[in-house]
Amino acid sequence: MPALERLLILGGTGEAAALARALAERFGDALAVTTSLAGRTPDPAPVPGALRVGGFGGPEAMADYLRSARIDLLVDATHPFAAQISRHARLAAQAAGTARLLLSRPRWQPKPGDRWIEAPDLDAAAAALPRLGRCAFVTTGARGLVAFAALSEMRFVVRLIAPPRAPPPLAADLVIARPPFALDEERLLLQRHAVEVVVSKASGGARAAKLDAAREAGLPVIMIERPAPEPGPAVASVEDAVAWIAARYGAR
Ligand code: NAP
Repeated sequence: MPALERLLILGGTGEAAALARALAERFGDALAVTTSLAGRTPDPAPVPGALRVGGFGGPEAMADYLRSARIDLLVDATHPFAAQISRHARLAAQAAGTARLLLSRPRWQPKPGDRWIEAPDLDAAAAALPRLGRCAFVTTGARGLVAFAALSEMRFVVRLIAPPRAPPPLAADLVIARPPFALDEERLLLQRHAVEVVVSKASGGARAAKLDAAREAGLPVIMIERPAPEPGPAVASVEDAVAWIAARYGAR
């Protein structure tokens, strides 16, 4: 059985933080866990174990980090839309000979009454918007808002986790708030802004309350499809990740 002393979590998600907590509970001091964040969110919530913040500087530099920190297992628990860091993680783990596990949330499944319209990317979402409504609630992040900039006849409500570093490229009511959001909050937001259509990434995981609020209000949701996941061993939940680790390295 291979030895497991040092584990690196690529984080920035609720699952990554939950995994750090679950590993601390299960393995205690026998396992040194470091969580890596890109540094996009100011004041991230504390997690057990060590924290490193900021990009590695590409896959070769990440491979150097894996070697010098003597990481035994890399768990990629980044967001399904963070495709670049996941690709770098695969390349770096390969180059350094480090084991890698992907923790990837299950997809959201539509419920009866959901009016989801799939779009391959933000440009396709922008092209579909004008025939679906005049006020769009957009939760796809600060990057990529430029895709909607030419839709001058529409109103936008854009929700972001933190104030944008640069002014958004379109006129929008900005809502700065961190998830999770309760159904009541989401209902109120849709009503207050007279939202007619929602634009969301198909992030998956726990079903977002905005989807239920949109269904109740009969609103269409443009769902941006996920990028293809990186190949390799993968689990869909924190419990499955802990079980995978215990099975491969031995339960302690
Ligand atoms: P990305 O486009 O895949 O990655 C861009 C660059 O950011 C990477 O090449 C890497 O820089 C750095 N990076 C990303 N995640 C990192 C991590 N966990 N630790 C260290 N460096 C990291 O990523 P993104 O979409 O901007 O997402 C950034 C972070 O936000 C991720 O941790 C992700 O889990 C989280 N997040 C993303 C979304 C989303 O919709 N994209 C949603 C919620 C949370 P170097 O090349 O210099 O190493």
